Amino acid sequence: MIVGYILWGQDNGSDMFSDSDTLMEVRKCSKCGFRVDYRQMNNLFRIKRKAYHLSFTYDNIAISSLRFKEFCNRNNYRNVLFKERERSPGFYQLLIQDSTIPFSARLIEDYCHACGQYRTVVGPKADTEAFELPLVDGSYQSDLLFGGRMGKHDNPLTPVFIVSPVTKGKLHCEGFRNLIFEPIEK
Ligand SMILES: [Zn+2]
Repeated sequence: MIVGYILWGQDNGSDMFSDSDTLMEVRKCSKCGFRVDYRQMNNLFRIKRKAYHLSFTYDNIAISSLRFKEFCNRNNYRNVLFKERERSPGFYQLLIQDSTIPFSARLIEDYCHACGQYRTVVGPKADTEAFELPLVDGSYQSDLLFGGRMGKHDNPLTPVFIVSPVTKGKLHCEGFRNLIFEPIEK
């Protein structure tokens, strides 16, 4: 049985936070130095590659197009939030509220006691034991945040997005291209 699909998008050639284009400090842990909150937004964010309906910045923040936002609104996916930045009209930082699915990771290492986050959490795997049926129509996120943080890649840990098989079908019918679906099987 396919419970749902992990949803990956394309890279949009932009950074949510870059050195030259921000008025605010990105929040980092004073001990380990890594970013602590993937939800933090840069008001001056400017998307560079606008070809995709769902894409990710180099620092791994999900960005949606207006068409993708309208698709979610039309389908009443109320747990999906869209935050617009004034320099990127028609594009939105996409956040999912609650709706978590239990996940584990292939590798977790370097815990920081100051921020309570790990430096490295990679290899997402859904824990499907509790699922008797496929997920119902909608979007979900992993309960675990993922990321591999090397010195120069200044990324926060971020959740993995998941959609139900029904939602995948709808996205396909709407003609959204360049989405990558990775089946979660039980
Ligand atoms: Zn820390």
